Amino acid sequence: MKVLVTGGAGYIGSHAVRELILAGHQVIVLDDLSQGHRRAVHPDAIFIRGSTSNPEMLARTMGLYGIEAVMHFAAHIEVAESVAHPKKYYQNNLSNTLNLLQAMVDLKIRKLVFSSTAAVYGEPQTELLEEDHPRSPLNPYGRSKMMSEMVIEDFCKSYGMHATVLRYFNVAGATPSAVIGEDHRPETHLIPKILKAALTSNPEVKIYGTDYPTFDGTCVRDYVHVVDLARAHVCALEGLNNGISGTFNIGSEKGFSVRQVIQSCEKITGKKLIVKEEGRRPGDPAILVASSQKTEKVLGWERLYPDLDTIIKHAWQWHSSHPEGYADILPEQEFQFYQIS
Ligand code: UDP
Repeated sequence: MKVLVTGGAGYIGSHAVRELILAGHQVIVLDDLSQGHRRAVHPDAIFIRGSTSNPEMLARTMGLYGIEAVMHFAAHIEVAESVAHPKKYYQNNLSNTLNLLQAMVDLKIRKLVFSSTAAVYGEPQTELLEEDHPRSPLNPYGRSKMMSEMVIEDFCKSYGMHATVLRYFNVAGATPSAVIGEDHRPETHLIPKILKAALTSNPEVKIYGTDYPTFDGTCVRDYVHVVDLARAHVCALEGLNNGISGTFNIGSEKGFSVRQVIQSCEKITGKKLIVKEEGRRPGDPAILVASSQKTEKVLGWERLYPDLDTIIKHAWQWHSSHPEGYADILPEQEFQFYQIS
C-alpha cells in the first residue's frame, strides 16, 4: 500500500517506516525535522520536509502520491513540557491531527493508524489496564491525545473512516543492528537518559519520586521494544485491510520500577551509576502496566524482544556506537529534501 507516515523521521516513526518497507509497503514520510532526523528515514522511503500544520500541503502531498492509508506519529511527547506549555501540545497534537483528518476526508482516504499513549488512562483503577478502562489523563499531553482519539472516533462514525488507535506504553530500544535508534534533544526518557549518562565520566541518574505507592517507592512502567511497537503498526494496517479497527494497548503486561531499570542498565553497561533521589515529576502516575491480550488476539501481534534486558541491550548498542546520536553518522545537509510548501 501507499502509506503516508507523519513524523516518520522520529524515533518511533522511523522504526515503523523501516518495518513497513520490510513488509513491502511504499512509504512517503512527512516530517518537519523539528524533532526527527533525516538520516533515520529508511532510504527506500520518499521523504518530504513539511508540517501537519499546513492543510493545503497535506492535501497536495496525499493527492500527489495517491496515498491509501495514513500513520500519524507527528506529535510532541513530553509530559513535563506539556504541563509547562499546554498550548504547544493542543496546537500540534490536536489541531494538526484535525488538519490531517480533514485532508483525509477530502481525499477519501479512509484508513488511519494513530499513535496514542497510556497517558490517556491517568491513574489506573486496575492492575492491568485494559482498553476500556476510563480515560482520565493527568496532564495536557495525555489530554491532547485523548481529545484526538475522540475526534477520530467521531470522524469514523460520521465520515466512514476506519481507524486503529495504538496506545503506547513505555517504548525503548533500537534496531538490533543499531542502524537506527533513539535521539531526542533534549532526552527526557528514563532508559536513554541512563545510558547516555553511563557513557560519561560522571554517570549520574535522577529518580523522580521515591514515595510512590509501589513496592520500592519508585514509579512502575511497562517497557516495549521499539521494533515490536513498529511491527504492531504493520499488524494494525493489515487489520484495517481485513476490516479490523479499534483501540489497542501496546505493552507487555509486566511492570518495572525506576530502580529496577537502573539495575538492569548497570548490568548491561557494566557501569556503576550515581543515583540521586529527587522529588516527583508533575503529571506522573505511580503505575502504568498494559493488558496486551486484545492486541495479541485481535491483531495477531507477537513480541520478538519481550525482556527488559534485551530492550536495554539494544538501546545500549545504539547509544554506545552513536554517542552523539545521528550527528555521528552524516550531517543532515547531505540529504536532498523534497520541499512542498
Ligand atoms: N524518570 C526518572 N528519572 C529520569 C527520567 C524519568 O526517575 O531521569 C521516571 C519518570 O518519573 C517516570 C519513569 O521514569 O516515572 C518513566 O519516565 P519516562 O519519561 O521514560 O516515560 P513516561 O512514563 O513519562 O512516558
